[in-house]
Amino acid sequence: MKSFQKSKEIFNEAIDLMPGGVNSPVRAFKSVDMAPVVMESGKGSKIFDVDGNEYIDYVLSWGPLILGHANDQVVSQLNESVSKGTSFGANTEKENKLAQLVIDRVPSIEMVRMVNSGTEATMSAIRLARGYTGRDIILKFEGSYHGHGDSLLIKAGSGVATLGLPDSPGVPKSIASNTITVPFNDFESVKLAFENYGENIAAVIMEPVCGNMGVVPPNEGFLQDMRKITEENGTLLIFDEVMSGFRVGYHSAQGYYNVNPDLTCLGKVIGGGLPVGAFGGKREIMEQIAPSGSIYQAGTLSGNPLAMTAGFETISALDETSYEEINKKIDTLVEGYKRAADEFNIPLHINRAGSMLGIFFTNEEVINFETAKTSNLDYFAQYYRAMIEEGVFLPPSQFEGLFLSTSHTDEDIEKTIQAVRTAFSKIK
Ligand code: PMP
Repeated sequence: MKSFQKSKEIFNEAIDLMPGGVNSPVRAFKSVDMAPVVMESGKGSKIFDVDGNEYIDYVLSWGPLILGHANDQVVSQLNESVSKGTSFGANTEKENKLAQLVIDRVPSIEMVRMVNSGTEATMSAIRLARGYTGRDIILKFEGSYHGHGDSLLIKAGSGVATLGLPDSPGVPKSIASNTITVPFNDFESVKLAFENYGENIAAVIMEPVCGNMGVVPPNEGFLQDMRKITEENGTLLIFDEVMSGFRVGYHSAQGYYNVNPDLTCLGKVIGGGLPVGAFGGKREIMEQIAPSGSIYQAGTLSGNPLAMTAGFETISALDETSYEEINKKIDTLVEGYKRAADEFNIPLHINRAGSMLGIFFTNEEVINFETAKTSNLDYFAQYYRAMIEEGVFLPPSQFEGLFLSTSHTDEDIEKTIQAVRTAFSKIK
């Protein structure tokens, strides 16, 4: 048995210092019913806790570390950058470099604005959509998570679903009433919403691949249908690619599925592990943002030189082959999970889009939040705790996906499959 003595001590101290002992809810490990593991360092595919335990990491800081921890090139460029100063509040050339890279890679983005988190990106994109269209209503999908902005914390996924909070106190009813939610992959419900509210809907915001109810890809044609109906109604289509951007493929989910939204939100990978978000899209719409336009958005630390460096180095290191290699490893992992499920008679449904991977303990097809919730959460918690014991660090929630990096090795995958077999053999 591993010792978690130091983790427990540090977390107990944290409980007095921060609400729930954490700075972001899922880190409290509540849904897996164990004390959180406190981390100390990471290198490549491995993460190390304060008790000296080593894990193969499939959290990767919830997605950003697509090159793995402490990538040599990222670290060396960060060291050089930090020695020149950490923030200027003025333009730097590094902002141009990352902006150009984002514009080159993400098909629909012609202009971009950097922010500091995914939440800021979605909040700003929504303001822009409302300002641009002169409409107020936003349509989102049940179980999708777009950060914690008031307009979007309605029937949200991720930590909210995990904690069983349908909505958050503190979100004014008047704001919530401007957000319509419909089930994902249910175009009939979308059509009905447009019949009722069409001319008042400023934007549809959607994760093109849902990652916050576990991983749920779009049904064939669903994104195309969304593109068409938004166009017909003068509504902006916003892809929230905070998770899927630079993750699902070289050209992000929009390239993978060949559907161009009007606006795109980015985060996670584009910061390479530092706090970065961005929103971008058609020039004509983006130019409505201050100071070229009148829709206000700003940030003291936006475009921070360290964050731009980590993002630029991370994305520059990725080519089409990087994704193919990650995908091959996922193929092997998925096969291993399926074999273990057969061997130990565990109900299992796996969803995947590129390198986004969702494991559900159910025999149902998982196509939306309702079906995601059929996963056996008790099985998940047992599996989770066993995997930690076996040295595999997974997101501590059923409603999150697994991430792989370019630094995961074939040996990591084999060890993980062995760990899955051990974990499944113990599930009661
Ligand atoms: N959108 C999506 C799709 C996300 O997955 C997340 C975070 N998991 C966010 C927005 C919010 O990003 P952040 O936590 O950086 O505010």
